[in-house]
Amino acid sequence: MHVTREMFNDVMVPNYNPANMIPVRGEGSRVWDQDGNEYVDFAGGIAVNVLGHCHPELVKVLNEQGAKLWHLSNVFTNEPSIRLAKKLTDATFADRVYFANSGAEANEAALKLARRFALDHYGESKDQIISFKQGFHGRTFFTVTVGGQAAYSDGFGPKPGAVDHCDYNDLAAFEKLISDKTCAVMMEPLQGEGGIIVPDPDFVKGVRELCDKHNALLIFDEVQSGVGRTGHLYAYMGLGVTPDILTTAKSLGGGFPIGAMLTTTEIAASLKPGTHGSTYGGNPLACAVAEKALDIVNTEEVMQGVLAKEALFRKHLDAINEKYHVFSEIRGQGMLLGCALNDKYKGRARDFMMAATEHHLMCLVAGANVIRFAPSLVIPDEDIELGLARFEKAVAQVVNAEQDSAA
Ligand SMILES: *Cc1c(COP(=O)(O)O)cnc(C)c1O
Repeated sequence: MHVTREMFNDVMVPNYNPANMIPVRGEGSRVWDQDGNEYVDFAGGIAVNVLGHCHPELVKVLNEQGAKLWHLSNVFTNEPSIRLAKKLTDATFADRVYFANSGAEANEAALKLARRFALDHYGESKDQIISFKQGFHGRTFFTVTVGGQAAYSDGFGPKPGAVDHCDYNDLAAFEKLISDKTCAVMMEPLQGEGGIIVPDPDFVKGVRELCDKHNALLIFDEVQSGVGRTGHLYAYMGLGVTPDILTTAKSLGGGFPIGAMLTTTEIAASLKPGTHGSTYGGNPLACAVAEKALDIVNTEEVMQGVLAKEALFRKHLDAINEKYHVFSEIRGQGMLLGCALNDKYKGRARDFMMAATEHHLMCLVAGANVIRFAPSLVIPDEDIELGLARFEKAVAQVVNAEQDSAA
């Protein structure tokens, strides 16, 4: 069957508006479309393809496990999931792991666990969940309600209750909101979808202290910031603040769908047999690939590389900005960077992204005002240079079109 982009509009639910080309093949940080055009990939499947496309070691383990055992359900356990859980707990604060298939599912588990833990230990009245404006936690009804954009949760009927939102980085407002009725606080230790907002370290420390004071669990949603993206295995390690529950997905499977919730033995005890579950969660195929991705990422070499690549990105982005004056700020950490547009270009991030695609660079936006880069952690320096040369052409195109229309 010959497939075209037009067919998408005929057969798909219209909730997405993908680019006009259809990618068919990827290798490292390069992607090719149906017509053989080559793209540099700074989008990384939205912070997922942590080792690029078709990394040989991931392909190898996928093929090996694929020829051995894919799926059992949770009526039986399997070796790859136990190995991956052991490695995740060895590498983090956590003692226990629950596997899911996505970030939203990992967060759904975290929120349900926090509510159940509070019920077990403090009774029914301790049910408030505090989260942050512009935060993003997934698209299930509970997670979208906890997320900080009403536009994503309105229009679907009654929402799960006892969820309150606070301004990010505003400790005074947070202190007013939290009380002994608070059962959990969910936050991204670096807001991704909300615009690549780096937290103030004192704010995060203050949130931790207030959670302790009120016996509220601190949940870090590291679905986007985790698995080496910030130059630390998890962003909490760079902040020096340890959560009670951590969720991870996106980069965790290097492109294969998997999510996980990590916590301590004491908290995990509230998820007794039958309280929660997933048919596919912890399947051997996903866990085997994720185990290999974690082995490769969790090395000094890759972490140091992330910081060096961030410096290379920043050097070129600063130079582009000196020439074209489009950004108010380049922000973010490691391989999760955002170019915030200045007042003149406010609201036009999507125009820059579309122009980049025309110049054969794949990138992302984070809201209407921020162009986002979330490439592979091992993207070769020459691909960074080439991609940013293409990005400069895209920026020039948008700037020149603006000047033409102003003249
Ligand atoms: C992407 C994302 C999610 C949702 O993950 P899915 O796999 O799309 O369900 C949750 N939290 C954060 C911080 C994310 O960036």
